[in-house]
Amino acid sequence: MTELTDSSESYVPSSLGIGLCFDPCYICAENINEGHAELVYGMSAAVENRDVGDRIVNMYLEQELYAEFHPCDVQVKIGACRKHMKNLMLLEKLVTEAENKINPNIIKQSVQEENELDTL
Ligand SMILES: [Zn+2]
Repeated sequence: MTELTDSSESYVPSSLGIGLCFDPCYICAENINEGHAELVYGMSAAVENRDVGDRIVNMYLEQELYAEFHPCDVQVKIGACRKHMKNLMLLEKLVTEAENKINPNIIKQSVQEENELDTL
């Protein structure tokens, strides 16, 4: 975790944990609302304000990933399809281990280990 040095790009959302979610998968952007009946899970993170939410969303977009800011409840929501559920769980674990900080490295790490996770 030595690469987690850029504190200017770290935010501390209060992770609300993983629960049911209706947002597209953050990795493949598969949207269950469009023709898929299976449940999807996602991570919700309460953020301070829209500015922080937008910055977190931008971290995802910069890595060609997907996240959405929901202005009504001031939360960033990160969905995962069934295939990428393990990545989402890894992401939550990494965020928790980093004392609820989220940053581009953590996001990248959760995606890079996709292949290893598939063999579990
Ligand atoms: Zn997916």
